[in-house]
Amino acid sequence: MVLAVLAAGCQTPSTNGITQVATIDALLTGVYDGHMSLKTLRTYGDFGIGTFEGLDGEMLLLDGSFYKVRADGRVYRPALSERTPFACVTTFVPDTRDTIPNSTDLKGLEARIDTLVPQPNRFCAFRVRGVFSRVQTRSVPAQHKPYPPLADVTKTQPVFSFTNVCGTLIGFRAPPFVKGVNVPGYHLHFLADDQSGGGHVLAFDMTQGVLAADTVHDWLHLYLPTESASFGTADLTQDRAATLRAVEKSSVIK
Ligand SMILES: [Zn+2]
Repeated sequence: MVLAVLAAGCQTPSTNGITQVATIDALLTGVYDGHMSLKTLRTYGDFGIGTFEGLDGEMLLLDGSFYKVRADGRVYRPALSERTPFACVTTFVPDTRDTIPNSTDLKGLEARIDTLVPQPNRFCAFRVRGVFSRVQTRSVPAQHKPYPPLADVTKTQPVFSFTNVCGTLIGFRAPPFVKGVNVPGYHLHFLADDQSGGGHVLAFDMTQGVLAADTVHDWLHLYLPTESASFGTADLTQDRAATLRAVEKSSVIK
């Protein structure tokens, strides 16, 4: 009995946890210095989302490959030497699969995942392969020092609309207790199958889709940039929830 308890206590953590670079509030304040190379980031997972040094585009890590959707709307394959100021990755091991009903939009997908993975205090990583009648995304233009706050950048964000496109949504549902550190609730990025575009998802209507979801039980690793003065001295004392909502969800063109 004692040995069993000791053995359980000595278990190594699951590799299927979340690894995150820096914090969302640091990004909101304008800490866009790259803190970790993509090569290192990929050692923590094959699936994830984030951004690049200088806020140079939206990141997708899908099946171990990185994609960068820049403000010109094009999809690039970044060098592994490029660095990220903020990213969230995991090793994607789906435990739940489902077919998405016709005419599902962003709210509908969120409700579907909430039903399938009903515990809101768990991280959930998910991927949806689908056919979309409409997808609306945004990217962000690369910034130069002194870096402005993210809310100033997104006021001029380019928004892209796709119609009748096949592609993949990837993202996370994060628990409410990550406020200030990650994005509570849903955060999705999109990549078109033909790599003609993608970005941070603002809205979509899906004609058909297949969902794979991975309930993640460990918030394994929060990397606090060790040598970054900009991170070390950023003002993280404020409640930036309203700013985050504006940055993540705003500018949806009907
Ligand atoms: Zn995003």
